[in-house]
Amino acid sequence: MDLTEALALIRRVPDFPEPGVMFQDITPVLGTPSAFKAVVDAMAGTLDDVDTVVAIDARGFFFGAAVAYSLGLGVIPVRKAGKLPVVGGKASYSLEYGTAELEIPAGVIEPGQRVAVIDDVLATGGTAAAACELVELAKGEVAGITVVLEIGALDGRSRLAGRKLDTLLTV
Ligand code: 5GP
Repeated sequence: MDLTEALALIRRVPDFPEPGVMFQDITPVLGTPSAFKAVVDAMAGTLDDVDTVVAIDARGFFFGAAVAYSLGLGVIPVRKAGKLPVVGGKASYSLEYGTAELEIPAGVIEPGQRVAVIDDVLATGGTAAAACELVELAKGEVAGITVVLEIGALDGRSRLAGRKLDTLLTV
């Protein structure tokens, strides 16, 4: 399956998780082997000169882990607050719907490492910006952010101004 066909499997779900939100559901991509491979390969192809991958809780874990494995790299989970046993740093962020905190594990990024940040969807950009903040708090260098899908109208891109941002699809 080519990338265009793979991305066409993403489905729009109105009023989820709240009325007025149009949710982009990537689960058909995850569940279709050829689509998952096309998307993971395309994401991996955006990375250059990267030492490790940060994957964002929760759907970013699928793509981040697969991309890291395909490139022979490790993967570091940035998680919603309260999930990590040894916390190295914490950052607050606002979501399209609500606010939350992200945490990064202690002692897994080496100072100066070039880190790719991976997630499924870029909406307002708050989550990705917080993940970048955590990488830098841990003394890593953000090599770039790669997501499957960007919701153009929410302009998350502007929250990441000055950073390398790759998105496979903009809706
Ligand atoms: P942001 O912080 O950019 O507003 O929201 C992005 C985060 O929320 C990502 O971690 C993403 O998984 C989740 N998210 C927000 N909107 C959507 C959506 O429409 N579809 C999916 N799959 N995730 C979303």
